[in-house]
Amino acid sequence: MELYSGHINKLIEELAGLPGIGSKSAQRLAFHLINMPQARVERLANAILDAKANVRYCKECYTLTDQEMCPVCANANRDHSTIMVVENARDLAAYEKTGKYEGVYHVLHGAISPMLGIGPNDIRLKELMKRLEGDISEVIIATNSSLEGETTAMYISKLIKPTGIKVTRIASGVPVGGDLEYIDEVTLLRALEGRVEL
Ligand code: ZN
Repeated sequence: MELYSGHINKLIEELAGLPGIGSKSAQRLAFHLINMPQARVERLANAILDAKANVRYCKECYTLTDQEMCPVCANANRDHSTIMVVENARDLAAYEKTGKYEGVYHVLHGAISPMLGIGPNDIRLKELMKRLEGDISEVIIATNSSLEGETTAMYISKLIKPTGIKVTRIASGVPVGGDLEYIDEVTLLRALEGRVEL
């Protein structure tokens, strides 16, 4: 016997497919949404559709942006010869929040994970190597200190070494497995300042 109507089941199923949402949360959210005023439901649905239709990848660093180029890449006052490599746009935001980093970024959109079947071609590595054909003095690898983040850092440094471009890794002290976005600004800055050459 189906416990809920088909429409609710469909909604629960869609919500349960989102990261970090288990089936209990999905049910709770589904019933919450059903009980919301029509106007709010429409605002939410439209916000999702608008974001999907209008957000795109920056053509330089591949972070998510409304423009062809993100505000960081479009800023001539930033040091465009220093590239910080991060796993996702949230990590970029964490470093931007410190207000102390003057360089630009490169967003990989993931990390190499043999266990999950994510290889070098599944993240924006080719795009990074393409950028290094320009005038670049340093690549700072700021992937997470998880197994995947370290694997990715190692892989990138091996790839870049032959180019002669300086490659550095942010200092550990960032908790193992810790997502950069959850780390406080002081720790982030310390990790950046204490970076070591690979
Ligand atoms: Zn950009």
